[in-house]
Amino acid sequence: MADEYAEAAVVEEDVEVAKAIDAEMTRETREERADRERLESWIPKTQLGKDVLAGKIKNIDEVLESGKKVFEGEIIDTLLKGLKTEMLMIGQAKGKFGGGKRRAWRQTQKKTKEGNVATFAVLTVVGNGNGYIGIGYGRAKETLPAREKAARDAKLNLMKISRGCGSYDCSCEETHSIPFAVEGKCSSVRIKLMPAPQGTGLVVGDEVKKILRLAGIKDAYSKTFGQKRSTINLAKATMAALRKLKWY
Ligand SMILES: [Zn+2]
Repeated sequence: MADEYAEAAVVEEDVEVAKAIDAEMTRETREERADRERLESWIPKTQLGKDVLAGKIKNIDEVLESGKKVFEGEIIDTLLKGLKTEMLMIGQAKGKFGGGKRRAWRQTQKKTKEGNVATFAVLTVVGNGNGYIGIGYGRAKETLPAREKAARDAKLNLMKISRGCGSYDCSCEETHSIPFAVEGKCSSVRIKLMPAPQGTGLVVGDEVKKILRLAGIKDAYSKTFGQKRSTINLAKATMAALRKLKWY
């Protein structure tokens, strides 16, 4: 009896979490609004950009498939609406002895004649929650430009991945998971992503979860090997794994 209640409570909690995630996915953040405003006053510098603005190219797949290097983030913004960005927690925890929360900023210092000069680094993921995903890195002397660089870089690195259902316990025809297990490696970190049946959720670490969610993968198992505390390497390993599902 008590167990039944406990189970019901867990399911309810899951629903709450799912709702919160949905709300988060649809909310426009400050950067997204800035992006939209920038897009409205965009003057393209490349031929590809001009073609996109003129409406000659209407499909993001056309751009990605051509393999042409994209130099303007606005090209992606124009062709793919509803892109979401999320920063990964690559910063050190504040406070001694592991206390405090992890932060999105990685702050480093360089000693100069004038004193310590701080540099901020940010790792950002962009995705539409439906098969398109990119990751980018940005460094600057201040947080905001670092953030903008990372978001731009992530858009320019956008790729389309194939999803599917490779789970033996599910074998539906939907794209809620991945078609087969894939592995990626970066430095000493290795990650294996595996298909999971519907309703499993993402059985992965928090930062990997952000990536998979933005890619539109809802159910997956994972195994990680090596130095997992390095978020940057773990994120890169995850992207390397997803690249094996790359469409273009
Ligand atoms: Zn399935």
